[in-house]
Amino acid sequence: MPNTNAAERLEIIRNRIERARKRFGPPADTVTLVAVSKTFSAEEIEPFLEEGQKVFGENRVQEAKSKWPGLRERYGGIELHLIGPLQSNKAREAVELFDVIQSVDRDKIAKALRSEMDRAGVERRCFVQVNIGGEDQKAGVPVNEAISFVERCRTEYKLEVVGLMCIPPEDQPAGPYFAHLAELAREAGLAQLSMGMSGDYETAIGMGATHVRIGSALFGTRPKP
Ligand SMILES: *Cc1c(COP(=O)(O)O)cnc(C)c1O
Repeated sequence: MPNTNAAERLEIIRNRIERARKRFGPPADTVTLVAVSKTFSAEEIEPFLEEGQKVFGENRVQEAKSKWPGLRERYGGIELHLIGPLQSNKAREAVELFDVIQSVDRDKIAKALRSEMDRAGVERRCFVQVNIGGEDQKAGVPVNEAISFVERCRTEYKLEVVGLMCIPPEDQPAGPYFAHLAELAREAGLAQLSMGMSGDYETAIGMGATHVRIGSALFGTRPKP
């Protein structure tokens, strides 16, 4: 992908984010664009790094391991977010590879992250993922357990929980789900909200998103899994 393409797409998305942020009130002070680079190669990611994009999201530990250590050697200031489900046996690698873990959704994972962060002598910011649509197949803590789980993450596992994350059901308007997540975050006293993808990030910003996770609108369509 030529550089101009990455530059143009980044500019379009950044402008739309800024416009959405200003259109709705009260907007978040800043909205962080998390560029979701899953399935794209290091070579395809590089033009975005060249254009100054620093925050990226990956959904699989193994895939991130194959791309990001090399990219980090060549580009400074990268912030990598894990946005996909985490197995506890991958917690060590996740703590090594990622700066932010957005998919904390059960005690076993919270506990594994705590012990791996202690072992490595580091802290990683976390989001608690909420299964906001109550879908059987989706990851995330159930809505009615979200606040107590956030509390346990803070007090029992001493995680630095900064916000909530969700992926709403695909076949329905996302707005009400985003609003619900924002309400849960307020109740839990959390300032950050990771919600909104290529198709609905402006809606999410209207509901208070502080992080939007955008893949295909930046990198192009992915092959279906
Ligand atoms: C793939 C993915 C995205 C990006 O989706 P697009 O529709 O391509 O923008 C965002 N969040 C999560 C959790 C993902 O897995």
